[in-house]
Amino acid sequence: MLKKIQPFNPLSNYNLAIKKLKSHNIRPTKQRMVLSKILFEKGNKHITAEELYEEVRKQERKISLATIYNTLKQFCKLGLLKEVIIDQNKSIYCSNNKQHYHLYIEDENKIIDIPHNKINIDFNVPEIPACLNLHNVDIIIKIKTKNN
Ligand SMILES: [Zn+2]
Repeated sequence: MLKKIQPFNPLSNYNLAIKKLKSHNIRPTKQRMVLSKILFEKGNKHITAEELYEEVRKQERKISLATIYNTLKQFCKLGLLKEVIIDQNKSIYCSNNKQHYHLYIEDENKIIDIPHNKINIDFNVPEIPACLNLHNVDIIIKIKTKNN
């Protein structure tokens, strides 16, 4: 069977991510490319470092967990990913680069995006001192299923 040829799309999230690395003088190494493919190629994703490690392993590639953590940190710094801190032991990385909030179902360990226009925060943001700028508002709503 013929392999379907994927046309090169310079605007795919994967290609945009690689472009961003290059524009910050970060070399798109094989490891960074493998991780970028998993993170950005198939639409928006929520993934932990351990799950990413597992996906790399399934593709029969080897990238250490330490490298994965470092790369995730680097991608967050570049604005390619958003770290959603669930608690001190758990972070989920989100590749949706549109402004949004999160709904986290604790007992199912599931995270869902909430479009930012679904939450009205205007009335509750405390006054910001004149010398400071509001940079970001992050909201995680944590819920549990009813029988837990
Ligand atoms: Zn998200």
